[in-house]
Amino acid sequence: MMIPLFFAGHWGLSVLLQSLFQHRYAAHRMYTMGPKTERSLHLLTALVQGSSYLQPRAYAILHREHHAFADTERDPHSPAHHGNPARMMLETARRYAGFVTRREQPEARFLGGYPEWPAVDRTLGRWPSRLAFGALYTLFYRRFATRRWQYLLLPLHFVMGPVHGAIVNWCGHRYGYRNFRTRDQSRNSLPVDALCMGELFQNNHHARPANPDFAARRFELDPTWQVMRLLSRLKLIRIAHVPAQEPLRKAVPALPAAPPLPVSPRSEVADGVAAAP
Ligand SMILES: [Zn+2]
Ligand SMILES: [Zn+2]
Repeated sequence: MMIPLFFAGHWGLSVLLQSLFQHRYAAHRMYTMGPKTERSLHLLTALVQGSSYLQPRAYAILHREHHAFADTERDPHSPAHHGNPARMMLETARRYAGFVTRREQPEARFLGGYPEWPAVDRTLGRWPSRLAFGALYTLFYRRFATRRWQYLLLPLHFVMGPVHGAIVNWCGHRYGYRNFRTRDQSRNSLPVDALCMGELFQNNHHARPANPDFAARRFELDPTWQVMRLLSRLKLIRIAHVPAQEPLRKAVPALPAAPPLPVSPRSEVADGVAAAP
């Protein structure tokens, strides 16, 4: 029983922190927090994501490119331009590594507004740390696995982040329904997204990239937004733009095609709109 619990806990917490910290905070600045809280969340994210920890700077740049160029040839990860999920994620990994090593230089509009902590990002985001976490997962399995089939889950711990990325980026732009008319191929894959903590409401999110609640209709539930509400109530974070409540949720109109991405100064990044398509 320990192994399924460990797997479920690692899966859920990894994707929750990716959505909460790397996506909604680093890339979109949907909320603010004090420096100590930011450092705590940064360290927690690195430790929980372990061998597949994603540096917030590189994640934010890559993700802002995704919004700006969604489903065009310049999108770093789009099912419309990559033959299969593996090829899409290999190309994503290559570009991500370029931003980590700074070999790749992004457009200036994608820079700034994300947390940087070199002591953590240079140690926990590199190969020796990834291998050390992999060894820890293996030791845990050796201690607690009670069935052989449970070892099939072990490799997923090593690549948890890329697995989540593949599900969200592939399924979220390929399978599901659309609430909003957007220029891209984004979809909402699940009405209640417990699998990826709200990340599979891609259509809602591309239509309203500054809105911290990725759910848009009554039957939709975004778990990460619920966590944000709790953290806000505990006064650990301040949500930049609290979305309008029920009246807007009763009917969801189709939006006209979004205007082109404005060249955004840093202040717009802080408002969470720099990545608007
Ligand atoms: Zn997307
Ligand atoms: Zn986004």
